[in-house]
Amino acid sequence: MRAVVFDQYGEPAQVREVPDPHPPEHGVVVRVEATGLCRSDWHGWQGHDPDITLPHVPGHELAGTVEAVGTRVSAWHPGDRVTVPFVCACGTCPTCKAGDHQICERQTQPGFTHWGSFAQYVALDHADVNLVAVPQDMAFSTAASLGCRFATAFRAVVQQGRLAAGEWVAVHGCGGVGLSAVMIAAASGARVVAVDVSPGALALARKFGATECVDASGAKDTAAVVRELTGGGAHLSLDALGSPVTCAASVNSLRRRGRHVQVGLLPSPDGTTPVPMARAIALELELLGSHGMAAHTYPAMLELVRAGVLRPDLLVTSTITLDATPEALAAMGTSPGAGVTVIEPWS
Ligand SMILES: [Zn+2]
Ligand SMILES: [Zn+2]
Repeated sequence: MRAVVFDQYGEPAQVREVPDPHPPEHGVVVRVEATGLCRSDWHGWQGHDPDITLPHVPGHELAGTVEAVGTRVSAWHPGDRVTVPFVCACGTCPTCKAGDHQICERQTQPGFTHWGSFAQYVALDHADVNLVAVPQDMAFSTAASLGCRFATAFRAVVQQGRLAAGEWVAVHGCGGVGLSAVMIAAASGARVVAVDVSPGALALARKFGATECVDASGAKDTAAVVRELTGGGAHLSLDALGSPVTCAASVNSLRRRGRHVQVGLLPSPDGTTPVPMARAIALELELLGSHGMAAHTYPAMLELVRAGVLRPDLLVTSTITLDATPEALAAMGTSPGAGVTVIEPWS
């Protein structure tokens, strides 16, 4: 099969022929029809993810059809249209038993712990636990975005963030996951303040339901602007980019007893990030993490997509080939981009 491979961190990736994958006995091989390009792929390529070994094929937001099935898989068959959370759970550890598959103790992640979906085929573990059926009328390019950014945003806003209608929510960083969060929050009846340095990203945020937009490149104190716009601070604030600056701005955007949800990854040399904890104490803030979403909680989100309340299809702004992927991956570093790029490995 053809795949995007990198042999060294930060060196240009190549498209080349590699051996086809085989399904593990509890897993499947999926023929990849669409796979999203995500900033996490860029982090992996830069060497920020200790799970990756070289050479490596990135890609973790995918949809396609089941091609081959392991001997112990009972629920899935060749030809089934499927997607998968980027966290593939084992289904049997104590955390999975409690329902928290998104933080499974023995999780695997395509594109990180093993070769991913910037390829014509990808192997996935524990298919009976992790695969999600894609409705016939949903495009693969739409379904691909559910595996990472859209489901991640849904869990951050709805499950971890517990957003209620009428509340103010601030979204710091309006790339793929941030725009998804804006759409989901607006559909929940919240009032949304979008924050980004890119006018293009803010224009999309407004289109997807943000009532206020803050250009962080022109604001000296972004958090102060958000507090002003929201009459004292947001009830819920998300760092959807993942940087020390946006993390602090998100925490400082909150009103008393507000909730911060960290969504964007925060790699750093020593694994720590400065957070304004004095403010967290004085205002009794909640600081939460959010990590993907368990496959068994997808139905509530899929129903909102089916009903047209949520429109992940509108977030897809460009479609590219495998051959164009190495350059697009490199570009994620300097310009995370407005909207979502989807790769079609067979085009
Ligand atoms: Zn588990
Ligand atoms: Zn992703």
